Amino acid sequence: MIVIQGVEKRYGDLKAVSDLNFSIEKGEIVGLLGQNGAGKTTCMKIITGYLEPTAGTVTVDGLDVIDQRTEVQDRVGYLPENAPLYPEMRVEEYLSFISELRGLRGKEAREAIKEALEATGLTDRRRQEISTLSKGYKQRVGLAQAIVHKPSILILDEPTNGLDPVQIQEIRSLIKRLAEDTTILLSTHILSEIEAVCHRVVILIDGQIATDSTLKELLDISSIRLKVRAGDEEGDEEMSEVLITTHEQIERVTRIGESSEGYPLYNITIKEGEEPSLLISQVAKTCLNKGWLLGGIDVETQSLESAFKSLMSDHVERALNS
Ligand code: ATP
Repeated sequence: MIVIQGVEKRYGDLKAVSDLNFSIEKGEIVGLLGQNGAGKTTCMKIITGYLEPTAGTVTVDGLDVIDQRTEVQDRVGYLPENAPLYPEMRVEEYLSFISELRGLRGKEAREAIKEALEATGLTDRRRQEISTLSKGYKQRVGLAQAIVHKPSILILDEPTNGLDPVQIQEIRSLIKRLAEDTTILLSTHILSEIEAVCHRVVILIDGQIATDSTLKELLDISSIRLKVRAGDEEGDEEMSEVLITTHEQIERVTRIGESSEGYPLYNITIKEGEEPSLLISQVAKTCLNKGWLLGGIDVETQSLESAFKSLMSDHVERALNS
């Protein structure tokens, strides 16, 4: 388990990250999402003990990353943003060098290298010189060096940065496989990466946590779109009244315009924790019972992109008002 408490890092006058408080439980895949310069790399370097925070503490399995750095680094595998590979070395030779640095020797080292090569799909390439590998394969070597000492935690800084779409898919599948027995924190500025790989997302804006929630919470379905013509005698207000009094799961009903087919379009906001799919059929029934002409009824989901945009605009507004 990783616990980050009150972490701040200044570079001279610049506060790169501040007031970071979050924890990562065993078995989670957490995405650290933020724009360029948001503080992702700084945060990861602090968690891995490569950078000292100016304030706050980080513990890994109860061990302080500064005071017990060696023990922490035994438990953690780190793929830096630009993994420092030695291009003139062959893949296996490089892993052998890394495992030696990690204190592995003899049979134990040979087995660890074999497993890391297998896990990352590099067995066939083990004798190839790193300089001749494609970017995607170089990234696999970076991952192999991060897992060779069998860490229980993996910290991956922008693991798919600069890769083509096929290589991105391959690395994402690899990360998901590794996640079967490893806790993972990965950083990215790509929203789809989070959706493809992570259970939870911590969004950093200007070095501060703007949100920390599971994807399910963040993308929770919050409203229903209803296309219905209630007839001349039923105004918007009466229509809302009927729906709200008939269904206690409904928070409010707002007319938001007209559908492309010419139906009046309503947004039904549902109360927190309510299940929209059940409500859909109940609302449809009410419309039919009232003799309203039902054009369609849909669940409206929030995308990670819209969640991120709204967090950004809240942040800008707060900054302008302060
Ligand atoms: P990117 O996605 O571009 O890699 P990031 O979210 O990882 O960005 P960081 O690299 O952590 O962001 O940088 C956060 C801020 O700290 C930026 O403004 C950056 O310029 C600054 N910064 C990072 N390292 C240093 C350093 N060694 N000296 C001075 N400023 C630094």
